[in-house]
Amino acid sequence: MTQPIELDEALFEEAPRINMSRRGLVCGLAAGTVFPFVVSGCTTNPYTGEQELNIFGEAQIAEMAATAWSDLKSQTPQSSNPQLREAVLRTWNRVERVTPKAGEQWDVAVFDTDDVNAFVMPGNRVGVYRGIVDLSENEDQLSAVLGHEVGHSVYRHAGRRMTRATLAQTALIAGQVAVVSSEELRQYGDLIVGLGGAAMQFGVVLPYSRQSELEADKAGVDYMHAAGYDVTQSVRLWELMDAKSAGQRPPEFMSTHPEPARRADELTRYINAKGYALI
Ligand SMILES: [Zn+2]
Repeated sequence: MTQPIELDEALFEEAPRINMSRRGLVCGLAAGTVFPFVVSGCTTNPYTGEQELNIFGEAQIAEMAATAWSDLKSQTPQSSNPQLREAVLRTWNRVERVTPKAGEQWDVAVFDTDDVNAFVMPGNRVGVYRGIVDLSENEDQLSAVLGHEVGHSVYRHAGRRMTRATLAQTALIAGQVAVVSSEELRQYGDLIVGLGGAAMQFGVVLPYSRQSELEADKAGVDYMHAAGYDVTQSVRLWELMDAKSAGQRPPEFMSTHPEPARRADELTRYINAKGYALI
């Protein structure tokens, strides 16, 4: 299992959302000057309207993830408990239809293992494990998990993550370490080399950056609110995760979703600022 790594948010500069000129400059630099091999460069995310640097097309990433997804499904038992499946799918349907990706084709699998985990893979594939459903005290908390995963998909975080990893690796090889923190690069580069040809595993294995996690957390709460769920339960969910992490075996979700206590704090601030609830 890959250890979680902390990615410096300054790595390949993701400028604040409002600062488009800075972001545009970064994209231009990456596409033409620093990394001349980048041909696709910046694209506009149709769901958020934001410019993003993504050297892989969405279709290409979805295709890469297809193998990992079918492997996972053939190797992991799926739940045959009708109540459990129904609870997940009911919550999923209620959340999905208020998101920018409403009505798209999705494949949702409910895996029958104790893993306290959930994930989304490129190509609209969502995996939910029995363990995280069991941890959730109610449907509102489950909606927080599912909303968070849709958030990753809407923001196309997998593509962002693969782009960063690839640029980091290429920069290492090309010796262009001056443009970014060499320490971060080494860390990421080692990880990529270690993974070898398992790039398709990126949809599952690698943790997202802190900024991506925060984006997904906030998007998840937005969807919960729109779907009529109790948004305060998202905070409770992270508190539960935090409590569980104090035990012997932290939830798998935590390996890719670190710092539950801090996330609960950030979500509380966001929920209050949005006026969804007063916590
Ligand atoms: Zn996440």
